[in-house]
Amino acid sequence: MLREFLLTLSHSKTARNVITQFPLARSVSARFVPGETVADAIRVIRELNGHGLNVTVDHLGENVTTEAEAARAADDYVTLLTEIAASGGHSHISLKLTQFGLDLGESICFANLRRVLDKARAIQTFVRIDMESTDYTDRTLALIRAAKDAGYDNIGAVIQAYLYRSEADIESLSNAGIRVRLCKGAYQEPPEWALPLKKDVDANYIQLAHKLLAAAKQNPALYPGLATHDEKMIAAAKTFVAANGVPPSAFEFQMLYGIRRELQQSLVAEGYQVRIYVPYGAEWYPYLMRRLAERPANLWFFASNFFRR
Ligand SMILES: Cc1cc2nc3c(=O)[nH]c(=O)nc-3n(C[C@H](O)[C@H](O)[C@H](O)COP(=O)(O)OP(=O)(O)OC[C@H]3O[C@@H](n4cnc5c(N)ncnc54)[C@H](O)[C@@H]3O)c2cc1C
Repeated sequence: MLREFLLTLSHSKTARNVITQFPLARSVSARFVPGETVADAIRVIRELNGHGLNVTVDHLGENVTTEAEAARAADDYVTLLTEIAASGGHSHISLKLTQFGLDLGESICFANLRRVLDKARAIQTFVRIDMESTDYTDRTLALIRAAKDAGYDNIGAVIQAYLYRSEADIESLSNAGIRVRLCKGAYQEPPEWALPLKKDVDANYIQLAHKLLAAAKQNPALYPGLATHDEKMIAAAKTFVAANGVPPSAFEFQMLYGIRRELQQSLVAEGYQVRIYVPYGAEWYPYLMRRLAERPANLWFFASNFFRR
C-alpha cells in the first residue's frame, strides 16, 4: 500500500513542488543521484571504472511536453556522449523515450533518438532504452525495432519480469538480435497486465533470466543484463551459468548507483561483469520516489536524516 502511495506521489506535480523545495530531499536523493551536471556524471564514471565497474549513465528526465524540451534532451545526451569520449572514461547511456517526445508522437521521438544513436555509434557506445509504464511498452519496443531495422546495432531494450507479456517479448527481441536488460519492474500496473504478488514476480524473473542466459550461450551478441539487487535472483543466475557452461563474459549483472555497493564489488571480485546505472540531473524527483517505493525502509533513511538536523 505504501508502495502504491509513493508511486502515485511520483506523478503528482503538487507533491513534486513541495518535496523538491526541501534541501533535505535533495540531500537524501544524493544517495541515489550523485549530482546534477555532466561533470558530476563523468567524475562518477571514472570512480566506478577505477573499481572495475562498468557504467550506464542516465540524464534524468521523462514525459516532456514540448518539442523544444524533447530536442534539448537529445542535445544533452549528445553533449554527454562527447564529454564521456573526451574524458577517457567508459560508459553506456540509458534513456527514456518519453524524455525524447514519445507523448508528442513517434516520428518526433524517433528523430531525436536517431541523433543520439548516431553520436553513440560514432564513439562505439551502446544505448539502452529504459522501459516505462505499460502505456508505453508497445510503442517503446516498436521504436527499438525500427532503430534496429534502420541499422543501429547499438540499441537495447528493457523487459520487466512483472508483466505477463515478457516471455513473448524476450523471445521476439532475441530472434531480432536485440539485447535485453531484465528487471522486475518499477511502475504501478493493474493486475490485468502485471503479476500482483512479489513472489510470482521473483519466480518469473528467474525463469526469464534462465531464458536469456541460455540464448546468450547460443548467440553471445545477445549479452543480457540482469538488473537486480536481489541476492536470490543473483544466486539463481550463478547456479544456472555454472550448470550450463555459460561464460561470465556472456552476460552482466546491473545495479543502481548507491544500492548494495558491497554486493557490486563482491561480484566483481568473483569475476563477474557488473554495470552500475548512474542517474544525474535536476529532474531527480520521480526517480527518487520510485527508489523509495521499491524499499519503503528507505523512508527511515529519509526520516533519520531529518531528525539528525
Ligand atoms: C540497472 C537497473 C536498471 C533498471 N531499469 C529499469 C527500467 O528500465 N524500468 C523499470 O521498470 N525498472 C527498472 N529498474 C528497477 C527495477 O525494476 C526494480 O524496481 C528494482 O531494481 C528493485 O528490484 P530488485 O530486483 O532489486 O529486487 P527487490 O526484491 O525489490 O529488492 C531486493 C533487495 O535489493 C535492495 N534494494 C532494492 N531496491 C532498493 C532501493 N530502492 N533502495 C535500497 N535497497 C534496495 C534491498 O536490499 C532489497 O531487499 C532497474 C533496476 C536496475 C538495477
